[in-house]
Order: sequence, then C-alpha cells, then structure tokens
Amino acid sequence: MSANIIDGKAISAAVKEQVRDEIARDKLTVGLAVVIVGDDPASRVYVNNKKKACEFCGIKSYEYALPAETTQEELLELVDTLNADKNVNGILVQLPLPKHLDEKAVIERISPNKDVDAFHESNVGRIMIGNYSFLPCTPAGCMELIHSTGVEVAGKECVVIGRSNIVGKPMAMLLLHENGTVTVCHSKTHDLAEVCRRADILVAAVGRPNFVTADMVKPGAVVIDVGINRLDNGKLCGDVKFDEVSEVAGWITPVPGGVGPMTIAMLMRNTVTAARIQK
Ligand code: NDP
Repeated sequence: MSANIIDGKAISAAVKEQVRDEIARDKLTVGLAVVIVGDDPASRVYVNNKKKACEFCGIKSYEYALPAETTQEELLELVDTLNADKNVNGILVQLPLPKHLDEKAVIERISPNKDVDAFHESNVGRIMIGNYSFLPCTPAGCMELIHSTGVEVAGKECVVIGRSNIVGKPMAMLLLHENGTVTVCHSKTHDLAEVCRRADILVAAVGRPNFVTADMVKPGAVVIDVGINRLDNGKLCGDVKFDEVSEVAGWITPVPGGVGPMTIAMLMRNTVTAARIQK
C-alpha cells in the first residue's frame, strides 16, 4: 500500500478535545437537542454516537425519540418549543424522516441560529456567499481531513462526485472558497473516470459501494470517501474501492474511521458556535 491513511478517528478525537477544553475553559453551558422520528436502525446508531460525543465534550444532550406515526404538526410544534428553549443551543432533526413528513418544512422551521446541521435555506445561502456561522458537518469534516494532509487546496484540481444538498454541493463550495478548481460530477456526467483522473483532490459522495476504482484516480491524489454503504454481509464499506485505490492515491480515508467520525466532531463544534452566537 502506498497511500497515507488519513486517520479520521484521531483527527475527530482532537477536535472533540478542543471543544471539550473550550467549554470547560470558558465555563460555557451548551445544549443540543436531537430529534429522531421512527426506529430506523442506522439513524439510531447515529443518534447514540452523537449523544456519546456530547457527553465527552460536556454538552448537555436532549433526546426526543418520537414514534413513526408522529404528524407534521406535532413535529413542527416540538421544533417551535426547542426554538424557544434557552437551554437548547442546537437542534438536529435526524434525517431521513418517515415518508409522510415534509423534511424541507421541518428544516425551515428550525431557527437558523440553532441550525447546527446548516441545512436551513438561510444558512445554505450564507455558505454560498462565504459569510457563514455554521458549515454543514460532513463537508466541514472533509475539509479538516484534507487540511491534515498538508496539501494546499488553492489552485488544485478538485473533483466532487455527487451533488446532494447535504454533501456534494456544499463540499464543492468549500473547496471553491479555498481556491480549488472545482468540478462537480453526477449521474449524467460523461466519461466520469476521465474527469476523476484529473483530480488532485477527489471526494466521493455517491452512495455506491466500491464505485471509485484505481483507474479513476490520479497517482498521489488525496481521496476522501464520504460513502457509508452497508453490504449484504453487514459490513460497512465506502464509495471507494479501498484496496486498489490505496495503491495509487497519496492519501486516502478509510471507511469506517474516516469521514464518519469527523461529521460528529464538527457537529460538536457547531453547537458551541451556536451557544456563543445566542449569548
Ligand atoms: P444522495 O443519494 O443524495 O446523492 C448521491 C449523488 O451521487 C447524486 O448527486 C447522484 O447523481 C450521484 N450519483 C449516483 N450514481 C452516480 C453515478 N453512477 N455516477 C456519478 N454520480 C452518481 O447521497 P448523499 O449525498 O446524501 O450521500 C452520499 C453518500 O455519503 C451515502 O453513502 C451516504 O450514506 C454518505 N454520507 C455519509 C456521511 C458521513 O457522515 N460520512 C454523511 C452523509 C452522507 P444525481 O444527482 O445525478 O442523481
């Protein structure tokens, strides 16, 4: 294996320690409300991991586990209550919501100052113009991982595969803010492998196991694998075919242990930022 492994676990632990130390040093009182509707097992795991991270950092977590039959009105009412609650600095509604609920309307109801996922339209708009308080956790975590390599983004060819509102698009924007030359690919992209091979920094956010193969990667590139895919055997795997791509790339994130833990660490950081804004 030639690539350096980017250790998301270690880097996320360092971010959480910084957050913990900051809260203790400045004697901050910080609270995060996590709302989960229904009993999706993957969502349950994410919510538990977020609770654990809160405990570690000294953030009080308030969990609202609602039944799958919860109505839109009930959910919006809870969001209103949390918006008004001074003990709650950040509100996170775990996605996806059950199909009968309108995710967009729920996100728009969260006070932008408490929107620690940075999914609210006003926060998305602020990211576009580079005047933001919160960055969406997964792309922000990816940027930390890229920074950890020491590779400068400025002037580099950056390719993002995926254009979702929560990962691909904001990721592209953050790379652009750091002066990368950014290409965003999607399911209609022609000759994807050719485009990817240009990348000094390649970010895969596709949601397809082992999608990125060695022939799509420029030797020495930084490869960030956002994908979390569960295989039939129950194992987790990323969007990048790790064994062969790690022979070509310069740096690569593993799955698990790469982007996933960073997402939670950045959520902790956003929650402290929210608490400071509200004070
Ligand atoms: P979406 O399904 O919303 O988006 C997937 C994107 O991949 C779309 O833009 C789609 O293109 C593109 N795509 C699909 N097939 C192809 C193809 N054959 N060629 C090129 N592009 C393709 O997923 P998300 O962005 O929400 O998530 C992506 C992955 O990241 C998932 O595995 C998810 O589990 C994971 N994830 C991980 C997180 C973490 O903390 N590590 C957090 C969030 C997500 P088009 O738009 O044309 O349909």
